[in-house]
Amino acid sequence: MKKRYDVWVAGAGYAGGVAARALAERGKQVLVLERRNHIGGNAYDCLSATGVLMHQYGPHIFHTNDKKVFDWLSRFTEWRDYQHRVIANIPDGRGERMTYPVPFNLTSLETAFGAEEGKKLGDKLVAAYGAEKKVTILELRQNPDPEISALADYVYEHVFVHYTMKQWGQKPEEIDPNTTARVPVFLSQDDRYFQDTCQGMPAEGYTKMFERMLDHPNIEVRLGVDARPILKEAQGPVIYTGQTDELFGFKYGPLPYRTLFFQFETLFQDFYQSHGTVNYTVDEEFTRITEFKHLTGQEIPGVTTIVKEYSRPYTGEEGEIPYYAIINPANNALYAKYKEEAEQYPNLHLLGRLAEYKYYNMDAIAARALELAERL
Ligand SMILES: Cc1cc2nc3c(=O)[nH]c(=O)nc-3n(C[C@H](O)[C@H](O)[C@H](O)COP(=O)(O)OP(=O)(O)OC[C@H]3O[C@@H](n4cnc5c(N)ncnc54)[C@H](O)[C@@H]3O)c2cc1C
Repeated sequence: MKKRYDVWVAGAGYAGGVAARALAERGKQVLVLERRNHIGGNAYDCLSATGVLMHQYGPHIFHTNDKKVFDWLSRFTEWRDYQHRVIANIPDGRGERMTYPVPFNLTSLETAFGAEEGKKLGDKLVAAYGAEKKVTILELRQNPDPEISALADYVYEHVFVHYTMKQWGQKPEEIDPNTTARVPVFLSQDDRYFQDTCQGMPAEGYTKMFERMLDHPNIEVRLGVDARPILKEAQGPVIYTGQTDELFGFKYGPLPYRTLFFQFETLFQDFYQSHGTVNYTVDEEFTRITEFKHLTGQEIPGVTTIVKEYSRPYTGEEGEIPYYAIINPANNALYAKYKEEAEQYPNLHLLGRLAEYKYYNMDAIAARALELAERL
């Protein structure tokens, strides 16, 4: 006899995985259909050939101020305390390279301008705006003190503009001035990338966490299947976490995305770099290099894995992954057409970074998935 399901879920990433578990615990029979041959979506991690735990779809660091989400996920994993620190690696103009923390902070200031000059400038900023404040470039530019507005230009040029151009494939004049205005200088010695109250890495990795999450008698997971044809048979709620344009056969045209190319390298040394992630904010074709052992804390001597990240336009070619929605009014309007189409199917629920055509951090999409499960 054919098994009956109460809810169909397309995709076994954060959106699908969290929603499936939450519904299963409410007594629903849930079928999860995942196109890839693994669970975890883009947070999936696995061992390299030399046994280094790595993130196949780019480095993922968990951070949140949402205690509810953190507690919920903590049922499926222990956490390794990890505070992510990122440095920028840039040419110093004298044929050498220098590094300093990003977001740009008081320490960066002293490295970029020299200890004495940097400290003087830092004191001036703290006196003007207050300690531990995040001040945007726009605010700094509006300051009548020429030293302070010159600093805004320095940060724009050395930390922001080239990096953004690489990431989004834009020319400087195409970069939204509103985005530029929001780039902060952090008037602090705190060199952590995130200041959230909960930060860490799943102690045994994301995939293990997802394995436990989906291990429930009311959940059946099928890997390596495209959910779309199967969803036609669904007689109840469908949670769809794939691309919405694809679901509707791209009938209004494809939604634009950026894709990423990851170049993984295995190196036979203990460590390659001093920090988890090093951003190349001025030169190089790649945007950043991440070394996983810093993130995971894995103790494995004599070998390490790094990944260089290149950002490219998404063409829809076989095997390419749409990573980042390109949010602008034209693309939002195109997405709105698909959304309107989807609303004609009351049982269809679009959830996640692809289905909703927006960027979510892991905690934010987990929170959305829990909310949807509650509503259903
Ligand atoms: C490079 C990179 C780094 C990131 N780093 C961080 C970070 O440090 N911290 C953080 O909080 N967030 C980070 N994120 C964001 C994080 O990846 C997302 O929050 C998360 O992946 C969203 O989960 P999702 O379920 O919506 O999407 P996904 O993880 O993409 O899962 C969707 C799943 O649906 C499947 N699917 C699609 N179509 C179909 C179909 N037709 N049938 C069956 N299955 C289908 C896909 O194969 C996929 O497994 C990062 C994102 C990127 C791109």
